[in-house]
Amino acid sequence: LNRRLAAFGTTIFAEMSALAARTGSINLGQGFPDTDGPAEVAEAAVRAIRDGRGNQYPPGPGVPELREAIAAHQRRFYNLDHDPDTEVLVTAGATEAIAAALLALLEPGDEVIALEPFYDSYAACIAMAGAVRVPLTLRAPDFRPDLDALRDAVTPRTRLLLLNTPHNPTGTVLTPAELAAIAELAVERNLLVVTDEVYEHLVFEGAHTPLASLPGMRERTVTISSAGKTFSFTGWKVGWITAPPALVSAVRSAKQFLTYVSSGPFQYAVAEALALPDTYYDAFRADLAAKRDLLADGLTAAGLRVFRPQGTYFITTDVSPLGEKDGLAFCRALPERCGVVAIPNQVFYDDREAGATQVRWAFCKKTEVLREAVDRLRAL
Ligand code: PMP
Ligand code: GLN
Repeated sequence: LNRRLAAFGTTIFAEMSALAARTGSINLGQGFPDTDGPAEVAEAAVRAIRDGRGNQYPPGPGVPELREAIAAHQRRFYNLDHDPDTEVLVTAGATEAIAAALLALLEPGDEVIALEPFYDSYAACIAMAGAVRVPLTLRAPDFRPDLDALRDAVTPRTRLLLLNTPHNPTGTVLTPAELAAIAELAVERNLLVVTDEVYEHLVFEGAHTPLASLPGMRERTVTISSAGKTFSFTGWKVGWITAPPALVSAVRSAKQFLTYVSSGPFQYAVAEALALPDTYYDAFRADLAAKRDLLADGLTAAGLRVFRPQGTYFITTDVSPLGEKDGLAFCRALPERCGVVAIPNQVFYDDREAGATQVRWAFCKKTEVLREAVDRLRAL
């Protein structure tokens, strides 16, 4: 293993899901729903396979039906216009979009400012690109970005801001004022922005505002999303970017040598999913909001300090009220203690101290599963 990757080891998601399987624990670690998305969307994938749509290599940028559906989604929800032929690219999940964007846009030695705790692939992809990550630390209890620190972090070597709103794992949703300050800085310092908005439909308070909708941002922003989160088909790995033509073309240059293409029949199904009526999106959000409340109350009752997320399907907590000093040790011992698995946020921080006692819990699970988990956690 080369030096760029050696530091990263096995992802925490793989480690903790394996632990859950080995111990038969309730898995509130890795973020995937325990209920599949809409039956008609699954049917659409089956139909595509049967009808021979997408069983052979789809077109490099994605099938036209899906690119058009993505453009229509951006128009419908955000009033953003994108040309489906030149401003949309389908990827193998958001994960490939992140990798391809960073590999395409960074030179070795470039600095990338990213919110920490980082989603785990950010740090690894920045490293694979030979670039340097510069964390902007979100700290408990509020997890707001320090905008003065952000301004101070920009140097002549800064090439790109890597954002994530709603933010995994903290649940922070950037406010209009924060987005405006970030946009102003990006324009002033001529920075590119890659923004991971995979939880765009899981904002429980206020509304999601895409960074690309702010003045001066559309031309410098790569926006990433994924069907995995919005439609509860994380195994399909259908993601996408929307961006101006030059940036789409750059990201596509990298993407073509990573996977070339993927998910043929699923692309047709996701095109249908994106066109679901507002009632789908509203019910999805309402369901998860109720689950957030259920799990938040249960974690509070178990004695943890709960930081209520504004978005995503994760709750970050502090386990120090239980007398715990180390969230990683806590998570490794938790299956033995009470048959539940969670994720230690410290592995997403360069500043390990800042995340030492934070633990993340996924609530994209059946109500009865969350209730059982909460019952078990009472033993803590
Ligand atoms: N970004 C964030 C913030 C995520 O939480 C995830 C997955 N949980 C991804 C990207 C990856 O998405 P995908 O499964 O579509 O690759
Ligand atoms: N994004 C999911 C999470 O945060 C995990 C996806 C993965 O395992 N790479 O839990």
